[in-house]
Amino acid sequence: MLVLDAHQDCLRRVLDRGDDLGERIPGTHGDLNVWKKGGCNIVWFSAWIDPRRYPDELAVRRVNNLLGALNQQLRLHPDELVSCVTAADCRAAAAAGKIAALRAIEGGIGINNDISLIEKFRRMGVRRMNLTWRGNLDWAGSSQACPGYDRKPHKEKGLSDFGKQVVREMNRVGMVVDLSHCSDSTFYDAIAVSTKPVICSHSNCRAMAPHVRNITDEMLRKLAEKDGVIGVNFYTEYVKGGGLKERFGAPDLEKVLDLIDHMVKVAGIDHVGIGSDWDGGITPVKGLEDASKLPDLFAGMRKRGYSEEDIRKFAGENFLRVIEANER
Ligand SMILES: [Zn+2]
Repeated sequence: MLVLDAHQDCLRRVLDRGDDLGERIPGTHGDLNVWKKGGCNIVWFSAWIDPRRYPDELAVRRVNNLLGALNQQLRLHPDELVSCVTAADCRAAAAAGKIAALRAIEGGIGINNDISLIEKFRRMGVRRMNLTWRGNLDWAGSSQACPGYDRKPHKEKGLSDFGKQVVREMNRVGMVVDLSHCSDSTFYDAIAVSTKPVICSHSNCRAMAPHVRNITDEMLRKLAEKDGVIGVNFYTEYVKGGGLKERFGAPDLEKVLDLIDHMVKVAGIDHVGIGSDWDGGITPVKGLEDASKLPDLFAGMRKRGYSEEDIRKFAGENFLRVIEANER
């Protein structure tokens, strides 16, 4: 079975601490060993830019360095990790018993208001970009403020004309538009402009877990109409419910299964996948502490009556369909 994690954040520790993905380092969530153990054979690596540390042109350099760190890992582990750009590449790598490595940029700050960088990064293999991380950009609104970066008080805003151009350019070159972290207005603006399926790589639903990083049921339905996919996020903060008792109890794998049930009820089984957020500075829920635990998630789905076909879609086929649709 193809198992695709649409949001893995280990590149920053690989770059900043010199971590090697061939080693198991306590406290981390993803590496070659745990991916193999958990049957995760497609990893979408996120090049995350902290705007407080890497504003303006430093953001572009940061993306280059993070992608360079992944390339170094690919050279170090040629028998285990394979550079992939298309859905077909991923299938071939998995069939050969290797782990497929896809690239993503987390934060439109990475193009530093230069539209030509989208094609340049696409040529370097980047297949996805989050329009925003935290903090409003000149051209796109975020769901959260970013103290230390926001130059004006954070206000809800959507896409500017330039932001709409960014979406069109991403469509043109085949870079998947990722709306996790965006404001609701940016989400709706991007959905209206994009001619290709879009995703929320690592978000949950507000109806179950009220947090601005999660999306409403109406947004979930819009995403499904666009043939997009939401990746369920394992971060405790985005999983826990809004009730007083729920807020103080640590959520576990069963709560993630509740989220999946809700997402499937609203959007359908074709529009839900995995976006762990592992290694993204998160505390994962109990029972999903690292990638070796993924089989427990599938076992939980089986117990709740999901068919093998449903699980195959959820595990990887849905995101692969979106990647493919963005290749045409
Ligand atoms: Zn994120």
